[in-house]
Amino acid sequence: MAIPLMRTSPWIEVRNSKIHGKGVFAAKRIPKGTRIIEYIGERISHQEADDRYADHDPNDNHTFLFIVDRKTVIDGGRKANAARYINHSCDGNCESAIAERRVFIDAVRDIAKGEELGYDYEIGRDKNDPPNVDEIYACRCGSPKCRGTMLWPAKRPAQKKKAKAKKAKTKKAKKKVAAKRTKVAKKTKVAKKTKRVARRR
Ligand SMILES: [Zn+2]
Repeated sequence: MAIPLMRTSPWIEVRNSKIHGKGVFAAKRIPKGTRIIEYIGERISHQEADDRYADHDPNDNHTFLFIVDRKTVIDGGRKANAARYINHSCDGNCESAIAERRVFIDAVRDIAKGEELGYDYEIGRDKNDPPNVDEIYACRCGSPKCRGTMLWPAKRPAQKKKAKAKKAKTKKAKKKVAAKRTKVAKKTKVAKKTKRVARRR
């Protein structure tokens, strides 16, 4: 049986975040393993995502594309829900998971009431990234483990190295793609690089 649509969630509330714009917070204690909410938005092709954001200001890290797989990208800017407000964190209390070609946000540890939710966007690097890409996606999540960037890998790979799959990390179906290059995530079955871009609202 298909997983029911999880457009809303009793576990969360959206309010202003110290990290970035709006954020999503635990409305009550959330036990580890809880499937909190589905990342909903218009489902489009990579090509459509590229076209849609072709004029996107490369210095703006604001968009909500999330790569599901090679065929599909979820545009959390349209027909979306609160999941798009969950901020990036280098050491988040949540992770994204793909099931039935849909994206869900799960708790990876117990989350106290009032705590802000976050997960690692692992925004993929791309050869077409602007020179200041590290600046654009600089991370200020405040975690002691903050790697300083929402990008993955954290360091710009040496010349043509293609992003190699990070083993552990890779399994998780992550992420969203910045408007710039959706293609990045060519990865394996589990779309790995997802980019999510921080929003400014
Ligand atoms: Zn960080």
